[in-house]
Amino acid sequence: GMARKFVVGGNWKMNGNKKQIDEILGFLKTGPLNADTEVIVGVPAVYLDYVKCNAPPNVEVAAQNCYKAEKGAFTGEISPMMLKDIGVCWVILGHSERRQIFGESDELIAEKVAFALENGLKVIACIGETLNEREAGKTEEVVFRQTQAIADKIKDWTNVVIAYEPVWAIGTGKTATPEQAQDVHKALRCYISEKISPNVAESVRIQYGGSVTAANCKDLGAKPDIDGFLVGGASLKPEFVQIVNARQ
Ligand code: PEP
Repeated sequence: GMARKFVVGGNWKMNGNKKQIDEILGFLKTGPLNADTEVIVGVPAVYLDYVKCNAPPNVEVAAQNCYKAEKGAFTGEISPMMLKDIGVCWVILGHSERRQIFGESDELIAEKVAFALENGLKVIACIGETLNEREAGKTEEVVFRQTQAIADKIKDWTNVVIAYEPVWAIGTGKTATPEQAQDVHKALRCYISEKISPNVAESVRIQYGGSVTAANCKDLGAKPDIDGFLVGGASLKPEFVQIVNARQ
């Protein structure tokens, strides 16, 4: 779909310090970043305000998580309102590390997505199967289930980007082939068309994530149902600029 703006997110995870962040902001400022690509960096909570204040205007800022309440007795958590207060407009939710290490369920993630959207944030919602699930032939079942959990709690998908990230490809150097990724993206779009709506299926952007690099991004980005990337390790390096420019 030519109508879907290419969107590349960088997920810094729990990496970086002020010196490293200044270096990252340096290569983002130098770019040049394709103006046809939306660029979002996912920043550790403690550095969000710093990055929001120092990032170039063509780079948006995302939190890597937030809770499903406005405020209160939720020690260690941050709210969508706090993010909006410092000018942060995006949040990554449901990353596989949140699911696997921190035990977040499909339902909790869906509740967080709904609450973030209701409070004016845009959301990168992550889904994806594990290696065991893929080898058991359950890839589609899993990504459909994870998507349906969100669909059960939201009506408007305008401010949602889906990140399809096969867990076996995250941080492993084992990228899905462009064909493997395209197959899942296409199947997911068909599912969304049937279970949510044809309009949402046509308009929602689906990123691929999992060991995306400057070397593999062009072939992945050439696939019709791949509308961008969510990038972990390579988002800390200057090659992130080449990934942003994959469609150039
Ligand atoms: C991620 O953290 O979302 C990710 C895809 O990581 P990596 O690019 O390092 O595999």
